[in-house]
Amino acid sequence: MAVILDGNALAKSIKKDIKIQINKMAQPPGLAVIIVGDNPASRIYVDHKKKDCQACGITSREHALAKDIGQDQLLALIDELNQDTEVHGILVQSPLPDGYNSQEVFQRISPQKDVDAFHVNSAGGILRGEYSFLPCTPAGVIALLDHYKIDLVSKHCVVVGHSNIVGKPMAMMLLNRNATVTICHIHTADLAAHTKQADILICAVGKINLITADMVKPGAVVIDVGINRTETGICGDVDFGAISQIASHITPVPGGVGPMTRAMLMLNTLRSAQNYM
Ligand code: NAD
Repeated sequence: MAVILDGNALAKSIKKDIKIQINKMAQPPGLAVIIVGDNPASRIYVDHKKKDCQACGITSREHALAKDIGQDQLLALIDELNQDTEVHGILVQSPLPDGYNSQEVFQRISPQKDVDAFHVNSAGGILRGEYSFLPCTPAGVIALLDHYKIDLVSKHCVVVGHSNIVGKPMAMMLLNRNATVTICHIHTADLAAHTKQADILICAVGKINLITADMVKPGAVVIDVGINRTETGICGDVDFGAISQIASHITPVPGGVGPMTRAMLMLNTLRSAQNYM
């Protein structure tokens, strides 16, 4: 049976350390979260982030905007928050409703307050290995691997999924740690041929049971980033029951990467506030 990589426990301990550091600060860090429209999943994510802020002593400020507020008003709010000295991090909850230009929105956030690290400055920084903020999900994966002392140097890491917010930065961060990296995506021919080669397999797609046990090398480390909503709750992209019998380490869903993503957001917000002081 594989070792379960416990994201809940590690996230809790990271948030405890953050709170200790914040208690010593003259002014608490401030995180502004913008949510546009009434997407139920977005509402759940924003509420979780608020709770995390509370647990860490970060002042959270929610800006809930009507779906039809429009791009210009949204950009005007970001401009305002960029100037606000009590706000150290700005996050716009994705996805935005149809009709919004997300890229323009992310670009408008000051790189100094870009705690989600979606700005091109942040993306470019990761490419060079020089950055202020790392995107929260891949940073959470690396923190989990480090905590369990899973060495990355010379390992063959296979990342399934090539989105700008998870797959691509994940691959780049593994490369920066001297792993050998393969990136697979929807157009990859013979996905299993690649995944079977992985010492460390990271799946970030959003398809239930995309990765089955016959696609995994015995002894591999398997990180499941996927979140799929079912009638009985959430599950990931990998067949946890069967793969946990052959992998050396595996993340559960829920309780693996999800809580680590949120802990990294808190860490980025703390770092941003420290940069201002
Ligand atoms: P996305 O939709 O932007 O990207 C999906 C990726 O999967 C694409 O690169 C696509 O090419 C690839 N893909 C689709 N079908 C495939 C297939 N059959 N074979 C191989 N690749 C395939 O999604 P995203 O924003 O990168 O998120 C991916 C998943 O991770 C989603 O389930 C999302 O909910 C989850 N997620 C989890 C966290 C977390 O904290 N745990 C954070 C962000 C995203």
